[in-house]
Amino acid sequence: AGDHQRRVLKDVFGFDDFRPGQAAVIEALLAGRHVLAVMPTGAGKSLCYQVPALVKGGLTIVVSPLVALMQDQVAALRLAGVAADTINSSLDRDANVAAWRRVASGQTRLLYLAPERLMTERMLEALSRLDVSLIAIDEAHCISQWGPAFRREYEDLSRLRGLFADVPIIALTATADEATRADIEARLFAGRAETLVLGFDRPNIKLAMETKQDSKRQLLRFVERHPGKSGIIYCLSRRKTEEMAAFLEKNGVRALPYHAGMSKEAREANQNAFMSLSGVVMVATIAFGMGIDKPDVAYVFHTDLPGSLEAYYQEIGRAGRDGRPAEAHMLYGAGDIRTRRMFIDDEDTSPEHKRRAHRRLDTLIGYCETAQCRRQVLLGYFGEEAQACGNCDNCLDQAPRADGSAEARTILAA
Ligand code: ADP
Ligand code: MG
Ligand code: ZN
Repeated sequence: AGDHQRRVLKDVFGFDDFRPGQAAVIEALLAGRHVLAVMPTGAGKSLCYQVPALVKGGLTIVVSPLVALMQDQVAALRLAGVAADTINSSLDRDANVAAWRRVASGQTRLLYLAPERLMTERMLEALSRLDVSLIAIDEAHCISQWGPAFRREYEDLSRLRGLFADVPIIALTATADEATRADIEARLFAGRAETLVLGFDRPNIKLAMETKQDSKRQLLRFVERHPGKSGIIYCLSRRKTEEMAAFLEKNGVRALPYHAGMSKEAREANQNAFMSLSGVVMVATIAFGMGIDKPDVAYVFHTDLPGSLEAYYQEIGRAGRDGRPAEAHMLYGAGDIRTRRMFIDDEDTSPEHKRRAHRRLDTLIGYCETAQCRRQVLLGYFGEEAQACGNCDNCLDQAPRADGSAEARTILAA
């Protein structure tokens, strides 16, 4: 079986080796076990179900929250010669009918569906008559009410286990504190899944924090230290992305805004420019990034406090995927904490939900304010122990300097 997997990896995807974690996940699925795979962004989660889908034959159903992500994946698989399809609301009726014909006739190996489309009685009934061999649930944290990206349509997926009794299910996520993990397992697997958690460390990303004073000037100074590099700048509001992008442009930086309030065409044009050129700075809200896989992003700069430590981790994970030195830089000010607290209090949710959200925010603040190695704190949150990293502002501040300041301190103290 090991050989078969490697052949698929090489012949279909063109890769020589599995990345850490992939082989273990694939083995477990092929042995018929349910799996919860917690792996960082960029670790290669898609392959964890795409390879078994091809090894097993039959139909693999892939649940994914965003139509754009599904389209990308299907296009990429087809380029590799894999029979993949999606049925979704952005396709016209004829295209959906044609896709369903291929699925029903057994040609399709992977079928990508949004959760609400999969969980209709008609779709479930039709699928139950086919040879379903695997179900993959991507971005599985969306099922957790306590997670940062809860989606009501995901709740219904808990019925899958009962509906497809003998079919292994794999849930994949990069967002994984203990509570969210346990919640996913309880909802999808009644607690009976093999959980595989992979290393979260991204040692090439330098972590740093700066007190927020004049965000525009601070941002410009940072960007100017990375001339010609691609970077992502996250802002809290749509208006601010426009302002910041305009300000950078005025100062000679190639910068483009991205937010959900822009037309689809404008968003796509900016995203394409960012993806295909080097040296473009994307100034975006969190609407930008899911599924973005550009290897040479040199930095992620937060002008405002992110929503949670998980969100922060996911966002900075878009930097340095090529393994080269990259930076995660955040401006941090008391005003941001007040704004975030207000967001939580204004949300239309239960008191318990609010309590958890405040606690989540406290964790993030703890990370921002720590004098310890930031990587230790960050990884510790995901349940990993680490040595002081030497590549965060706190570690670097403590290192003896070559400029004689350590010596000066000794002399002055004496
Ligand atoms: P994730 O969903 O975990 O964020 P993806 O599945 O999108 O990650 O994969 C990220 C990138 O890693 C993709 O470009 C993919 O082709 C690449 N990749 C995945 N597995 C391997 C591998 N075994 N060897 C080389 N590249 C890989
Ligand atoms: Mg993914
Ligand atoms: Zn450190």
